[in-house]
Amino acid sequence: MECIECGEKIIGRSDKKFCNDACRNAFNNKQNKDSSNLMRNVNNKLRKNYRILSEINIDGKTKIAKSKLDGLGFDFKYFTNIKVYKNGSEYKFVYDQGYKLLEEDFILIVKN
Ligand SMILES: [Zn+2]
Repeated sequence: MECIECGEKIIGRSDKKFCNDACRNAFNNKQNKDSSNLMRNVNNKLRKNYRILSEINIDGKTKIAKSKLDGLGFDFKYFTNIKVYKNGSEYKFVYDQGYKLLEEDFILIVKN
C-alpha cells in the first residue's frame, strides 16, 4: 500500500491509507478546500440570480423578456428548487423568487 497523499510506501496494517497524521490532515484539508471553493462558486451564482430577480420583481409578479435576464447575467442553470403547480405549470425558484418560461421567450417572475 502507498500513502494516498505522498505516495510513500505504508508500513504496517494494510488498511491504512496514510503514512502519518500529517499526510492525513494535508489530504483532508485539500478535500475540504475543493468543496468549499465549489460551494462558494455555486452560492455566488445563486446570490447573483436572486439579486437580479429581486431587483426586477418589485411588485411580486413581473413579466420580462428572457433576453433582458440574459443581459443582466442571470444564469438559468442555478436555482434552488422546482415547484410544479396543480395546473401543470412549473416554476424554478431561487429561494422565494420563482420564474417560469412563457411563450415567445418571456419570463414570468413571481414571489412566493
Ligand atoms: Zn504520506
